[in-house]
Amino acid sequence: MTEKSTYKGQTVPTRREFLTRLGMLTGLTLPGMLSWDLLHAAPVNALPDMADKLPNPDSKNVIILGAGLSGLVAAYELNKLGYKCTVIEARERVGGRVFTVRKGSFSEEITNGKLTAEFDEGQYFNAGPSRIPHFHEVTLHYCREFGVKLEVYNNINEAAYYFSEGNGKLSNRKIKKGTLHNDMRGYTAELLAKSLDSSALDLPVTKEDTEKLLEYVRAEGALDIDNIYKGSSRRGYIEYPAAGLYPGTVANPHPLNDIIQSGLIGPDFYGVAEYVYELQQTMLQMTGGNDALVLEFEKRLRSNILLNAEVTKIINGDEGVTILYRNKKGNQQIKGDFCINTIPLKVLSDIDHNYASNHTRAIDKTAYILCGKIGMQFNRRFWEEDEEIFGGITHTNNEIYQIFYPSNDYLSKKGMLIGYYNLNERARIVGELSYAEREKLAYEKGLLIHPQYASTYERKSFSVSWHKTKYSLGGWGIYSEKERHSFYTALLEPDKRTYFAGDHLTYLNGWMAGALQSGRTAVKAIHSRVTGKTFL
Ligand SMILES: Cc1cc2nc3c(=O)[nH]c(=O)nc-3n(C[C@H](O)[C@H](O)[C@H](O)COP(=O)(O)OP(=O)(O)OC[C@H]3O[C@@H](n4cnc5c(N)ncnc54)[C@H](O)[C@@H]3O)c2cc1C
Repeated sequence: MTEKSTYKGQTVPTRREFLTRLGMLTGLTLPGMLSWDLLHAAPVNALPDMADKLPNPDSKNVIILGAGLSGLVAAYELNKLGYKCTVIEARERVGGRVFTVRKGSFSEEITNGKLTAEFDEGQYFNAGPSRIPHFHEVTLHYCREFGVKLEVYNNINEAAYYFSEGNGKLSNRKIKKGTLHNDMRGYTAELLAKSLDSSALDLPVTKEDTEKLLEYVRAEGALDIDNIYKGSSRRGYIEYPAAGLYPGTVANPHPLNDIIQSGLIGPDFYGVAEYVYELQQTMLQMTGGNDALVLEFEKRLRSNILLNAEVTKIINGDEGVTILYRNKKGNQQIKGDFCINTIPLKVLSDIDHNYASNHTRAIDKTAYILCGKIGMQFNRRFWEEDEEIFGGITHTNNEIYQIFYPSNDYLSKKGMLIGYYNLNERARIVGELSYAEREKLAYEKGLLIHPQYASTYERKSFSVSWHKTKYSLGGWGIYSEKERHSFYTALLEPDKRTYFAGDHLTYLNGWMAGALQSGRTAVKAIHSRVTGKTFL
């Protein structure tokens, strides 16, 4: 039976219940966190150098399907080793899911058709990847090699908001993340301090250690001398200190019950961006748009890449591969000794091929996440001018889920917001809408948070629903643990003369680093097979 106690007029869990819940929470997240350990940045070793070049470099040719990052890096490294390679790309551009949208950019969705961006010159947003973790060494390695300029991407901004729509006393209000984080830190520290204070609790620490722990908890939560949380300047001011007789006024904390009732410690909000290892500070982005890297690859591979060339059939043999593709001139055919296939599996599933049954099953059954973004142009950076928001994300519990503020060109006049970036069910619902309906939704929901939309939005938007986008049909591959052992492992093995690559063939799915590592892995595997040497 659980005893209940009251605190500040509210029924609250007992210390033990609280600590048990805390333990459960830690227990639940820890395996996840440990599994991320698998994702640690592998050091970027140089690929086998030119000393291992084939005696006759042109003797083997490799056909690469897809000019996304995995296909581009494979071609680039194969070229260095002296292979002859051809990259076949269905789109009119390289990059695949790396897509920076500027004036004139276009994409095509299977139900909505083609959309062209009409933003002003100089305005852009990243519809695909927007951020690079500081430990994704392979991505940084190629940026360094090509001189791609990077800038800090402000992923975590305490000045941005939580906005809970229609839910409890704090709903339909902009709650600054910094206030909520510090209030929750204070309340949990207060509970913990009270627990630590009690001799009834069995703790695996000495009395002296308990004192130190208590000191830490007090400091962590900004508790007063009686271990009570009453708010602190950490959460910000309602009047900021100024010269003369203006010491500033600290705002009162949000009542704990209101925070809980408004769902603000639920999964839509709390810790969404802060706790995931990949999303921790410092994050980076490429100056001028994240397509800078793929464009550098393209410069070095111009003669290798066939654009507007859609693969229609793959004949995989014991001695080589034959690829049928369609370009503006009609149906074409090309033969190679090897093939690296980087076509996203949802797309590949609809292409005629003769892969082995294990591979075919994995191609047909692997699930992809649903996701979508919209870029919106504003004639004034009201988020900077009126609300002191420089980068970061506002989280909501409604369809738009997130608003991203730009981490570039601060204090300039115009600017772009990512009006939504949603995933899973929200992305499915929004993806069903027409382009115009998506814009209306992003506008109306954004207006609830920022009334300035009404006077500053320039009615220029561009939305991408990745699971509806031709040649992508999904955000990134996702596997259950079971599927990691079946589909995933099947595709790690080559099928006759074909090697599979792409971020879906790493534990870094959904990251450019995954695509790069996978492309490099395929190159090493082919080079090992050709030379009979092992490359780690
Ligand atoms: C919304 C979103 C946000 C993301 N955010 C981040 C982020 O912040 N940071 C990060 O590092 N990564 C991020 N990623 C992941 C990153 O974009 C991918 O991991 C990476 O771009 C995948 O590269 P790829 O070469 O494996 O696949 P793709 O880029 O999909 O390349 C496959 C290529 O195959 C081509 N193709 C398809 N069909 C055919 C055909 N029939 N014939 C010929 N060619 C064909 C496609 O056009 C495409 O160019 C994000 C992705 C998305 C969708």
